[in-house]
Amino acid sequence: MFRKVLIANRGEIALRVLRACKELGIETVAVHSTADTDAMHVRLADESVCIGPPAAAESYLNIPSIVAACEITGADAVHPGYGFLSENARFAEILEAHRIAFIGPTAEQIRVMGDKIEAKRTAKALGLPVVPGSDGAVTSVREMTAIAAELGYPVLIKASAGGGGKGMTVAKSEAELVGAAARARAEAKASFGNDDVYLEKYLDTPRHIEIQVLGDGRGNAVALGERDCSLQRRQQKVWEEERSTALNEAKRRAIYATCASAMQKMRYRGAGTIEFLYDNGEFYFIEMNTRLQVEHPVTEMITRFDLVHAQLRIASGGDIDIAQDDIRYEGHAIECRINAEHPETFIPSPGTITHYHPPGGLGVRVDSAVYHGYRIPPYYDSLIGKLIVHGNNRVECLMRLRRALDEFVVDGVNSTLPLFRKLIHHPDIANGTYDIHWLENYLSAEREKEA
Ligand code: ADP
Repeated sequence: MFRKVLIANRGEIALRVLRACKELGIETVAVHSTADTDAMHVRLADESVCIGPPAAAESYLNIPSIVAACEITGADAVHPGYGFLSENARFAEILEAHRIAFIGPTAEQIRVMGDKIEAKRTAKALGLPVVPGSDGAVTSVREMTAIAAELGYPVLIKASAGGGGKGMTVAKSEAELVGAAARARAEAKASFGNDDVYLEKYLDTPRHIEIQVLGDGRGNAVALGERDCSLQRRQQKVWEEERSTALNEAKRRAIYATCASAMQKMRYRGAGTIEFLYDNGEFYFIEMNTRLQVEHPVTEMITRFDLVHAQLRIASGGDIDIAQDDIRYEGHAIECRINAEHPETFIPSPGTITHYHPPGGLGVRVDSAVYHGYRIPPYYDSLIGKLIVHGNNRVECLMRLRRALDEFVVDGVNSTLPLFRKLIHHPDIANGTYDIHWLENYLSAEREKEA
């Protein structure tokens, strides 16, 4: 096992990793920007190093500073968390060249999955079902029109280098196709410096269901369960749950087996998530995230398996430590992402938290790095914390979530808590009947009611 781990991140995920390290007796190094001097991860780490000014490009994304921090402190591994450098193949390579372990997959695995066209091609070759679409990048209008006609409208134009929903454009008819393609290409060029685009069948009312996987890099891999992340706003997940109300046991088992086998074939190393859209009983691969995800606690609540312990164990050459047939899924878990944003306009609300009281009790977990008097800086994401609740079944889970939301106090900044307090009473949420468009539709209906 590692002796000292540097955590190249901030906020709740830095704390999450730090906790796992402490439990395993590993020393921790926090890095931080000048805006995060008073942050919780800095206070709780054994050592800390300031790596630059507030702008992420000059601190949390500054590879030379982070490598220097490893050398100064003698860290033998880096945990990248999520976001920032977590899916940067170059960073993984540079660390390896310095004989510092990157707690994640190989640089090659990150690279393949980071390019959407390459990822889709690989997924198909590994036996994962993919969304019908073009075979790679399309350039000519004639080719695009022919493929779209074959797929049937609406179609989706996606950027190969895409992320965060950028460069994604729907075309409802041939008349819209040329303009939509030009827009997608321009946005991709501006955001990613790469204007490769490809075509996909647009699925009307799918669910977003993803599978948590874990591999040891030597050909052993397991699927640890699904998470239904259909409740999204602007392609950002808001609420995640397991078990998905859309799946039956047979569907569930089948997709777990397909994913585990794909990861065995690619000798995947570490934790990852294979994301699918699920429509009319079929799964369609959309992308793979080669890192720990924000919503990983949902899986941990159901399986009582610590994913960060596993990441640390695997990165230091150890085993997965659980066999597919030994994984037990118990009850139901839901995560709500509580952001420092206005609950209706979603305008970010950085500032000082004047009062903070997180909920507690049986089955309640709050992953957060804020505290009473903490000042949320304006430079980073607006996550205050994640509320994760477990129940013996979905009904109990919802009851407990309602109670926990009522108990949660965050004063001094706007938060999205009121949104969740409303959502929990909606019959579609109670029944679990929602698709990826449900939340956007709900929010625009609410806005109309106000007007
Ligand atoms: P990004 O990496 O930009 O987030 P993804 O491929 O992961 O892009 O897709 C993000 C979201 O966009 C999905 O969760 C889903 O809501 C929507 N989406 C993606 N592909 C399709 C599709 N073929 N049909 C309908 N919606 C889609």
